[in-house]
Amino acid sequence: QPVLAVVGRPNVGKSTLVNRILGRREAVVQDTPGVTRDRVAYDALWSGRKFTVVDTGGWEPDASGLQASVAKQAELAMQTADTVLVVVDASVGATATDEAVAKVLRRSKRPVLLVANKVDDDRLLGDVASLWSLGLGEPHPVSGLHGRGSGDLLDAILEALPETPRDDYAERIGGPRRVALVGKPNVGKSSLLNRLVGEQRAVVDSVAGTTVDPVDSLVELDDEVWRFVDTAGLRKRVNFASGTEYYASLRTKAAIDAAEVAIVLLDASEPIAEQDLRVLTMVVEAGKALVLAMNKWDLVDEDRRYQLEKELERGLVRVPWAQRINVSAATGRSVRKLAPALRTALTSWDSRIPTGTLNSWLSDLIAATPPPVRGGKQPKVLFATQAQTRPPTIVLFTTGFLEAGYRRFIERKLREQFGFVGTPIQISVRVRE
Ligand code: GDP
Repeated sequence: QPVLAVVGRPNVGKSTLVNRILGRREAVVQDTPGVTRDRVAYDALWSGRKFTVVDTGGWEPDASGLQASVAKQAELAMQTADTVLVVVDASVGATATDEAVAKVLRRSKRPVLLVANKVDDDRLLGDVASLWSLGLGEPHPVSGLHGRGSGDLLDAILEALPETPRDDYAERIGGPRRVALVGKPNVGKSSLLNRLVGEQRAVVDSVAGTTVDPVDSLVELDDEVWRFVDTAGLRKRVNFASGTEYYASLRTKAAIDAAEVAIVLLDASEPIAEQDLRVLTMVVEAGKALVLAMNKWDLVDEDRRYQLEKELERGLVRVPWAQRINVSAATGRSVRKLAPALRTALTSWDSRIPTGTLNSWLSDLIAATPPPVRGGKQPKVLFATQAQTRPPTIVLFTTGFLEAGYRRFIERKLREQFGFVGTPIQISVRVRE
């Protein structure tokens, strides 16, 4: 669903307004720094349409000062959301910080709605008109506190929000395959993208029959054009500073959702971190194909290598099926191996086992190793079919529950038999009484 981000300087009433939009009061913990940070995205429903509201109100200004940090917040909102709502306090008028935000948002290619908040009575309407000076179009007067004007504002929001969110490429057929380049900050994403773009023959700006979202990069690798999604921040080398961790992770998720395959970059020179594992989990849970790239390999010596193997053994238990490539964005080492690995992962992601093949293999497997007895009964697997690709999804029809351990056993055997390198597999069980 489309995303609306609400920005503005502190105390203009962002959170109150977000509550109005959500039509409930419980959502936002007001003005408690740190508390609201992991709860800033909410689902909203108006006139039968669903959208996500991102409240940036819980963030504290960082060391760069109020004006800069609010401007940075607006920049990130602009890059992440489909529509940006900028809130100004009409009873105060446009401040220098509001001007700074407006300056950022005037460059936005996505719709921006200007809200004049705290218009609790008509006497303030004159002050509202003065907000035209911000160059963001017509100010929408509201009172977040009393609810005045909020119905009109919601209608305007729905009009401004696109029907399909910017990252919803799901229905698109053909065209370059979509790759997300993800990983924690400073792992070398920008460097690798630059390396990939620089090393190969050409960066293609347009491909016949496709439109390119300016946030994406088309890169030719190994005689094939790939679409690296949501790379605007990487190209511009936006510095994701402190206090924006939530946004960075929202963005990572959006990129993964928009992609078919993810290159998860890990820093081989540093211990594997919690954040690395979170990114990996996001890819698996989104059901996307995966290639692991161990970057900064130029910094890895014999001792570190030994240590790393131990860390990976523990860290990669969920993704033993992913191909791992040791690269260096700095020297260019092995970056040429990425395209073939992407292709392998996508082939697995797309592949389908014919029902006959699957069932004859599975009946042999189950005859040799039947599922564990539960409640005195031996569950039988009646039939299996691969219901979906992207990722491969296998449905087992059974006479009883199959425990997770046994499902994992089937998955492991499936991989031994049919490959599936670089893709998660989903196995679901339907019990027929
Ligand atoms: P991003 O935040 O993931 O985009 O990371 P950057 O691409 O900005 O890289 C962060 C830092 O790591 C920069 O100082 C890079 O020069 C450095 N870096 C990136 N890749 C490599 C690499 O392969 N080897 C070494 N030694 N340094 C690297």
